[in-house]
Amino acid sequence: MLLDKTAHKETLYDVLSVKEDASYEEIRASYRSAILNLHPDKLLKTSEMSSSHQTSGDRFLTVQKAWEILSNSTSRSVYDNELRGSRQDALAADVAEDVSLQDMIAEEAGEALELSYQCRCGDYFTMDSTELEKMGYSLLRDGSEISLHTVDALPGSVILPCGSCSLKARLLINIDDNN
Ligand SMILES: [Zn+2]
Repeated sequence: MLLDKTAHKETLYDVLSVKEDASYEEIRASYRSAILNLHPDKLLKTSEMSSSHQTSGDRFLTVQKAWEILSNSTSRSVYDNELRGSRQDALAADVAEDVSLQDMIAEEAGEALELSYQCRCGDYFTMDSTELEKMGYSLLRDGSEISLHTVDALPGSVILPCGSCSLKARLLINIDDNN
């Protein structure tokens, strides 16, 4: 194979050629068209065109597996968490410290709420509620109390960049829980 997939790990979303926020219907439509193209009956007819019959058979299983995980909302949410975790791990090499939400300063920034925490360089690690929402976390404010929620209430973490230097802080979510 000419394609080297080691640099970019293919996600289940890549396998089915859908966006990570695709709906169930979009995933199903994409799965169906992928399966039609990879169906063994169809491969028999087109196998003269290609010597990669075995590869296509493997591909069929890969697509099938991706569909099994992404078509189920529970297994999809577990997978999404793993995916998020592995991406965060890749960034975690420069993490200077772990912080909890209570350590952070929350300030209104237009429609959003901005969280900040001072870096040892004097600048701040920052993250706003809009960015957190894109990652699946919702930041709520009730008077002076702020709280951060994950969709499934599972522990998580977010890497915050410093505004000036290359250090990062890791905001831990649902880890020192109050129950
Ligand atoms: Zn810094």
